[in-house]
Amino acid sequence: MKITAAVLARTGDNPRPYGEHRPLELATLTLDPPQAGELLVRIDAAGLCHSDLSVVNGDRPRPMPMALGHEATGIVEALGPGDDMQFAVGDRVILAFLPSCGECVRCKGGEPYMCAAGAAANGEGRLLSGARRLHDACGHEVHHHLGVSAFASHVVVDRRSAVKVDRDIPAHIAALFGCAVLTGAGAVINSAAMRPGENVLIYGLGGVGLASLLAARASGAGTLVAIDPSAEKRAIATELGAEALDIEEAHRLPELFPNGGADLVVETVGRAAVLKTAYAAARRGGRIVTVGLPNPAEAFTIPAVSLVADGKTVIGSYMGSSIPARDIPRYIAMWRAGRLPVEKLLTSISPLSQINTLLDGLADGQAIRQVIVPDAA
Ligand SMILES: [Zn+2]
Ligand SMILES: [Zn+2]
Repeated sequence: MKITAAVLARTGDNPRPYGEHRPLELATLTLDPPQAGELLVRIDAAGLCHSDLSVVNGDRPRPMPMALGHEATGIVEALGPGDDMQFAVGDRVILAFLPSCGECVRCKGGEPYMCAAGAAANGEGRLLSGARRLHDACGHEVHHHLGVSAFASHVVVDRRSAVKVDRDIPAHIAALFGCAVLTGAGAVINSAAMRPGENVLIYGLGGVGLASLLAARASGAGTLVAIDPSAEKRAIATELGAEALDIEEAHRLPELFPNGGADLVVETVGRAAVLKTAYAAARRGGRIVTVGLPNPAEAFTIPAVSLVADGKTVIGSYMGSSIPARDIPRYIAMWRAGRLPVEKLLTSISPLSQINTLLDGLADGQAIRQVIVPDAA
């Protein structure tokens, strides 16, 4: 079938403003029908995430050309051949940005977020089966982004990228569970195994950082502090009961965490320099969980002795150490109970045709989550 998708021709070397130079082209592509174990999904909302921007600006190089977008929800329109007990036409699914094979030693050991087959497929811009289902007008393959490629009217995904959820969840909310919530809440709940009463400090209030804040609050944080240069984002954190500091106000941290630092520090900015600051902000014996993705050239350096002498733990958290089929329904239940107000992440809802302009809002640090919906017919 013919679909519309936002295709990036080159990673890095894309001049700003994006709204003017339009690195993402809305192209008509051919989408092959789903094969065994795959689903055709009509996308009805997709969030714009910093990891999309990182492919555009070259911080996270990927094979080109690529149809971007990895945080989305939609309705199953067709199934590949063969019995599928899990999914039916008409199901609402949330797409997770790392499919897991279910067969490897990591998957079987309960760490599907470390699935080697899923990581390899994502790195090569393929679906988990190894196939690419997207072709341009000349018949050349277009790469899938993280098995999803959601800035599009339709996608074909491996069913192991999809989690079925109730249909009544508004699409613009449901989409956010696929990356921001999975990553940000997972970092606090799974990777750091936060305990009630712990004092928590969060660097960065993008979609992931704000989701970490929601999870820390829901998990019974004692002192809860967030640092971000954007006054708008700090206002939302304040509304949620956190103390929000501008970067220049970081000198207040010793006063806010009088016992030598925070029990748990969550770094969501994706800069090695911020991770170093986050490391220093943890108390002796404290934990630092990092979910941001720095440019691969950046190194994280600390005095080696401090790991032992200060007894700190640095935890890398990929996809919030999540098991999507377990965690997405759990976070939705928390959202329904009012304990995880994910709608606080939502900055705007815009048609797909606005995508390049929306990238500027993200790059300028203005937006938290801008959700993209199909253009009105
Ligand atoms: Zn993302
Ligand atoms: Zn696996």
